[in-house]
Amino acid sequence: MNTFGFNFDNTYEKLPDNFYHKSAATPVDFPEIVAFNGTLAEKLGLDAEALHSKEGREIFAGNKMPEGASGISQAYAGHQFGNLSMLGDGRAVLIGEQVTPGGARFDIQLKGSGRTAFSRSGDGRAPIGPMLREYIISEAMYALGIPTSRSLAVVTSGEGVTREEILPGGILTRVAASHLRVGTFEYAVRTDDEADVKTLADYAISRHYAELESLPDAEKYMQFLNQVIDRQAALLSKWMLAGFIHGVMNTDNMTISGETIDYGPCAFMDSYHPATVFSSIDMNGRYQYQNQPAIGQWNLARFAETLLTLIDEDKDTAISRAQEALSGYGKLYEAYWLDGMREKLGLMEASEDDEALITELLDMMVAVEADYTQTFRLMSLGKLEEAEVVKAEGFSEWKKKWQKRLGQQDADAEEIEKMMKSVNPAVIPRNHLVEKALDEAMHHGDYSHFNTLNEVLSRPFDDAHDEIYKTPPEETEAVHQTFCG
Ligand code: AMP
Ligand code: MG
Ligand code: MG
Repeated sequence: MNTFGFNFDNTYEKLPDNFYHKSAATPVDFPEIVAFNGTLAEKLGLDAEALHSKEGREIFAGNKMPEGASGISQAYAGHQFGNLSMLGDGRAVLIGEQVTPGGARFDIQLKGSGRTAFSRSGDGRAPIGPMLREYIISEAMYALGIPTSRSLAVVTSGEGVTREEILPGGILTRVAASHLRVGTFEYAVRTDDEADVKTLADYAISRHYAELESLPDAEKYMQFLNQVIDRQAALLSKWMLAGFIHGVMNTDNMTISGETIDYGPCAFMDSYHPATVFSSIDMNGRYQYQNQPAIGQWNLARFAETLLTLIDEDKDTAISRAQEALSGYGKLYEAYWLDGMREKLGLMEASEDDEALITELLDMMVAVEADYTQTFRLMSLGKLEEAEVVKAEGFSEWKKKWQKRLGQQDADAEEIEKMMKSVNPAVIPRNHLVEKALDEAMHHGDYSHFNTLNEVLSRPFDDAHDEIYKTPPEETEAVHQTFCG
């Protein structure tokens, strides 16, 4: 253990050499810490005060490696918008795995840290805006109870990054259960060594599904596939229930741990519409809101393909077992989603009519372009009358049906309200607020909006926030498009 509480292990380097390149961050001259997550630092067993300092900024900038750290960039492949490419960390360095006092293990990665062996024509850098955006949104996701990578710090590099214009550069310190991706497995099956995928699977199991380690091989890899499918079905349901659109659901951006990773042009919906797309690069709407669960399954099919040789020696048997596992995804997802929707509506017991009741509500929300988050929060507060959705045709009949369902439950109003308030957030990282905070930070050096917004988003189920955080944007304020970094 050293001065900052770093307690690094570097197990990824025990994988075969072709899984990574040794890699160092490229130093920058004038780093400044602009965001620092003291709570997360403490959770990791780090000394928050010591790190929020001049020495800390050298670490977060990649200028100085803490004791025990060892830089690598990871190799992976990925289906990007459906097409396979060989990729790898082109602008990130994994400096090690922090083992916390409680024994948990987290990757610590610097993103935007300079060129690596995988950079191709890229500069290895990131503009400060997207790094601050990942910080805000990943931390908001965490507060909403959605599995995610987290953000420990952002530094400005003091250097310009050339995009369409020259932008100030930034480096994010990202914390994740691991950076193992579906794309890492797609890479492993394309190396020269057939044993690589087994080595990788065993490694992933030891990090994320250790309870499977003692199973015989014939079951272990099948269960591994099942577990990843289960976690992704759960994750996708959480995204959908929160109105979150990832934006770039390429297989290299889908984790084996079941955490959300790689915040690019992601966004939360304001007014509800299933076909919502924010990402400027998603021309055909492949990753639109309503497609996400199905894309999840498509990505998991790419994952399953990489495990076939481990599932069974006989190819046809392996395929049919993998297909069976994949066909379970739809049911798992539906069940998670339905359970979540019931909670949002205050329904404590399941009934056959629930799905119809939910669909009718969502259809009315589409018809009047109701704000997704606000509709459910007002419902939770017994203020549905104030919601836009009351204007929809058929609303009063729907309300009667819903209230009848609530009345039939063996629970008092207080209990129901408590449950609804714990799942329907009052505040989400609304695009117009995020963009404003980033704009003030980047163009005016004023981080007060950014800091306040982070603080507000750390308590998403609290109504005591200023109205501006709870209210949907005016049409003139609304942000309809997001960009990659
Ligand atoms: P992403 O869209 O962020 O998931 O990135 C896709 C791939 O492009 C990954 O392999 C990244 O490492 C790489 N990449 C993205 N931006 C850059 C950059 N500025 N320089 C080098 N590689 C990059
Ligand atoms: Mg090695
Ligand atoms: Mg990525």
